[in-house]
Amino acid sequence: DSKLTPDNINAALKKAYDDYKGLKEGKNADYIPALAKVDSNIYGIALVTVDGKIYTVGDVKSEVAIESISKVFTMAKVMEESGVESLPHNMGVDATGQVFNSIYAIEQHKGAEMNPLVNAGAITTTSMVKGKSYDEIWNKILNYYGEFAGRSDLKVIEDVYKSEADTNQRNQAIAYLMYAYGHIKGDPMQATDIYTRQCSVGVSAKDLAVMASTLANAGVNPVTGKTLMKADDVPEALAVMATAGLYDDAGKWLYATGLPGKSGVGGGLIAVSPGKFGIAVVSPPLDEAGNSVRGQKAITDISAALGGNPYSVQ
Ligand code: GLU
Repeated sequence: DSKLTPDNINAALKKAYDDYKGLKEGKNADYIPALAKVDSNIYGIALVTVDGKIYTVGDVKSEVAIESISKVFTMAKVMEESGVESLPHNMGVDATGQVFNSIYAIEQHKGAEMNPLVNAGAITTTSMVKGKSYDEIWNKILNYYGEFAGRSDLKVIEDVYKSEADTNQRNQAIAYLMYAYGHIKGDPMQATDIYTRQCSVGVSAKDLAVMASTLANAGVNPVTGKTLMKADDVPEALAVMATAGLYDDAGKWLYATGLPGKSGVGGGLIAVSPGKFGIAVVSPPLDEAGNSVRGQKAITDISAALGGNPYSVQ
């Protein structure tokens, strides 16, 4: 690929970093109290090509809570354990057209037309991870994230977990509704707590880019060489990211970039250019829709410069 040379990649990263470093738009999420306190100036961009080369600019080491980006990788775990059909069968793979923690969206179709990237579908997805005990399920999830990131030492940011666990009554309500409608089969409060914990895992921009690059590379982590998903299952994961990855602005994002992506309210944003690269930005200030302001702008520009849009065949 002629555009994907080291010089072009480094130049595109540096330009996007410089262009948006001074930007003062957006603000940290504050409905989870601990997220409001995170340094808004953290700003890093990392890109990992499918041949495993890592390019970075800015602060790619500071860790923020992974939040909703975790939903992608728990979804991947369930795809691997139970097959890609288990998800549409249990809770759907349609964009809801409602906010990510909508109760109304559950009520509309009795929880049957959700997707694994909004809270109702995500907590249900977490409830589908197999295991005999809380600890077995949790360790499986954390280890799987670590394999995507190429790190064995990922950890929960405890004050984010505590803050979120103290204020997640709405997610508890969502889980009980999904239980009442038969989508969550086990203990809905256990699923909510494991979900809350998975959202609190600390990750850097570099970690997120390696995770995204594994999706770009047909399920094989290009840095460690480890196969984490069946190549056949990756298109389904990317499809859900394309339709529902950026909250209510998923359509606008896809229109602008063509890239399957996922944002989290901790300020992380990942995007995948299949067969080419995974990219991630960490920058906590969010727009009204809940997506990192710098993240969206930087990834849009970098992908355009590198020919990342999978719908473009020029
Ligand atoms: N843990 C957050 C919640 O469930 C995740 C939100 C997000 O990043 O979209 O509210």
